[in-house]
Amino acid sequence: MRTHARAVVIGGGVVGVSTLYHLARKGWSDAVLVERKELTSGSTWHAAGLLPLFNLSYSVGQIHKYSVRLYKTLERETGQHVGLREVTNIRLACTADRLDEYKYYAGVAATIGVPVKFLSPAEVKEIWPLCNVEGVIGAIQHPEDGYIQPADLTQALAKGARAGGAEIYRQTAVTAILATPAGEWLVRTDKGDIVCEHVISATGSFARKTGEMVGLDVPVLPVQHQYIVTEPHPAIEERRRRGFPEMGVLRESDASYYMREENAGLLLGPYEVGAPACYVDGPSADAEYELFPDDLDRLAPHIEAAIARVPAFGEVGIKKVYNGAIAYTPDGSPIIGPAWGVRNFWLNEGHSFGVTAAGGAGWQLAEWIVEGEPSIDMMGVDPRRFGSYASQGYLREKNEEAYAKVFTVHYPDEERPAARPLKQSPCYSRMKALGAVFGTVYGWERPNWFAPPGYGLDEADLKKPDVLLNENHAPAAPGERPREKWSFRRSNYFEHRHVHEKVGLLDMTAFAKFEVSGPGAEAWLERTLTNRVPKAVGRIALSYLLSKNGGVRSEFTVFREGEQRFYLVSAGALERHDRDYLLKLCPSDGSVTIECVTTQNGVLVLAGPRARDLLERVTDADLSNASFPWLSGKMIDVGAARSRALRVNFVGELGWELHHPIEMQTHIFDRLMAAGREFDLKPFGIRAMDSLRLEKSYRLIPRELSIEYAALESALDRFVRLDNRDFLGRAALLDWQKRGFRNRLVTMEVHGITDTDARGSEPVYRGGELVGRCTSGGYGWRLGKSLALAMVPPELAQTGTELELVILGERRKASVIPESPFDPKNERLRA
Ligand SMILES: Cc1cc2nc3c(=O)[nH]c(=O)nc-3n(C[C@H](O)[C@H](O)[C@H](O)COP(=O)(O)OP(=O)(O)OC[C@H]3O[C@@H](n4cnc5c(N)ncnc54)[C@H](O)[C@@H]3O)c2cc1C
Repeated sequence: MRTHARAVVIGGGVVGVSTLYHLARKGWSDAVLVERKELTSGSTWHAAGLLPLFNLSYSVGQIHKYSVRLYKTLERETGQHVGLREVTNIRLACTADRLDEYKYYAGVAATIGVPVKFLSPAEVKEIWPLCNVEGVIGAIQHPEDGYIQPADLTQALAKGARAGGAEIYRQTAVTAILATPAGEWLVRTDKGDIVCEHVISATGSFARKTGEMVGLDVPVLPVQHQYIVTEPHPAIEERRRRGFPEMGVLRESDASYYMREENAGLLLGPYEVGAPACYVDGPSADAEYELFPDDLDRLAPHIEAAIARVPAFGEVGIKKVYNGAIAYTPDGSPIIGPAWGVRNFWLNEGHSFGVTAAGGAGWQLAEWIVEGEPSIDMMGVDPRRFGSYASQGYLREKNEEAYAKVFTVHYPDEERPAARPLKQSPCYSRMKALGAVFGTVYGWERPNWFAPPGYGLDEADLKKPDVLLNENHAPAAPGERPREKWSFRRSNYFEHRHVHEKVGLLDMTAFAKFEVSGPGAEAWLERTLTNRVPKAVGRIALSYLLSKNGGVRSEFTVFREGEQRFYLVSAGALERHDRDYLLKLCPSDGSVTIECVTTQNGVLVLAGPRARDLLERVTDADLSNASFPWLSGKMIDVGAARSRALRVNFVGELGWELHHPIEMQTHIFDRLMAAGREFDLKPFGIRAMDSLRLEKSYRLIPRELSIEYAALESALDRFVRLDNRDFLGRAALLDWQKRGFRNRLVTMEVHGITDTDARGSEPVYRGGELVGRCTSGGYGWRLGKSLALAMVPPELAQTGTELELVILGERRKASVIPESPFDPKNERLRA
């Protein structure tokens, strides 16, 4: 066994071996993999081997696409059989909402380059004659999809990795991971120590145990998953004898199961409600090829549904039930990328579709490790998208929920109920009493919108056929009527106009907040962020952290509070992500101190034309334009409470963000609400903000802003000051500019559309040719227009260019309009 290696991968399941394979392919022949038992002896051996390309996430979709393409070539490359069966995959739709979901997905797939075909029930019957298509209203088919033999695939990847010089040590358990004084890692195993630069954890159900070795609370907890294999069925045997093709993978999403042929019998895998989290304290030291006792009672409703759909399934006996551990995260996507707080420690964990994801996950992680950046936007799978709130109790509730919801319709506005309410700002109950319908971000409860008193969906609404199988409404508290109906089309929430005509109050306590101070703070911010640091105390600038390649990683509002003191605000969902980058970039000489103050500070945003009149009633501070202009900030008193008041907002109206000690929030809230009566102040939620920001063409991470797009492609020219200064990513951005940009962010008006809007990820066409991708969309209530933001080639970015968007399967005309169609001169912000 080697004593030194460039990288040590821990875990010999399909994910770890793929990571090793890709490191070797990138030239790291001195990478090794350590497996405590045999390759595949964790979750991989018992996987059903399905390769579902269907995924609504842009990151995960690209990962899956890469995997399937790699697996097609692997056998030729390594000589090792992988058992790939490209039998296609059909997903049935039994409700209109399900069909909308597929139509939305088909747009995502088009932008990623994954072919998808729509089928009629008759076409389904032709391909799957054993399927009863009663009640089916349509289906999609992935022609490239199918299944593979997971153990063979892993062996092929291992063979490829060894051919690239990498080594694999089986029957070797990692027992400790220690940081050396030289900044390397010492991986202690029961067969000896290995010193290395990088450690990659790909340990499946052991993820939390491995994390503990370096002090990480890894947000992964497995859930039990079962599938049933039947005895052969005469009809399938007959099809085989007659040389008919395999019928392919069948998914009845509305009954939450997958089915395929297996040795002339059938294999059925339901995703049921009530599957328990398992290995809560980790598997035992001798766990190997482990299965749990089966629990068919839990599967009963799905078995019945499967028999109704495919009667042949009920006509043969059960041969075997597999009940194994499947790793989960709270949102069901894996965690792939750097660990927080430690250097050169990488996570490739939490894979619930690990056979499907392994190829792409190994590819992108190897790129990140070897080249310093992945090439696709990995925000949807970044390990830092969860925070320290993701305790074991949280994981248990959320991961069981994520498992149970694998097949529910994934509405764009879906909010899931488990483990809530968790983080509450102090004015939570006050907002609830005012009708707040909450959503969550990063564990925080945040009002999405406010329902009028007594408002609730009526029985007729809830009994519409689409609702029968899908819970397409927000779960209501006991005794309350559901108030929100989810849809891919325009929904039933409103309140934008009030912010425009009068004044509104928004809780943004979830913002990530950092205090940066010290003698080196200004110089460090200058060389780290894209915009010039505000020179005068009290001024504010919007600035960006770029990737080393010149793409956009994070956005910060930078408020200069003193000569050596800065207050930074960034997206709430990215707190751990942003903090990790700031801390890792911070000089170690003590000249800069960074403190994360998210939970110490609440934020209330007052916005609308009467914002000044109202705020003047509760403060002695001079709020006039001369004394308190746009893009400036001050400490002011609101009633008796001290607050940072920043004259910025994300809705494009006159307003202030009030960042206050969190324990004084209710004082400020009450004072504002009392004084606000005179001005008809009303609270508003994040959905209104999203519509209002679209009308200002304000960008969001990871939509308009991403590491896949150069900062200048995202039209950040005003905030990226290239003149006479160096900052992280600048050189790469200039190189990119020389090579030529392929995209430009545009704002578009979508024409002739009445019941639906773009949501982001819709494909953009010009004369039948796919030219771009929509990043956000919605209805702009101030303008009365359906709007979309999109990335298109620079030559199509001129105002007036006519393009087409496909929204839920319909081609819609759209034209490029000037940026910030609402108040382009920012007169309302400056008022
Ligand atoms: C019943 C069932 C059916 C499934 N069907 C599918 C499917 O059809 N398609 C699909 O894509 N996915 C499927 N999955 C999920 C799939 O099995 C997993 O996502 C995948 O196998 C995860 O691979 P992995 O490499 O991350 O983990 P594992 O295969 O569990 O590998 C982790 C390895 O790390 C090793 N390890 C842990 N700790 C240490 C240590 N300290 N030192 C050394 N080694 C260590 C373990 O021994 C283990 O071998 C299914 C899962 C189940 C339960």
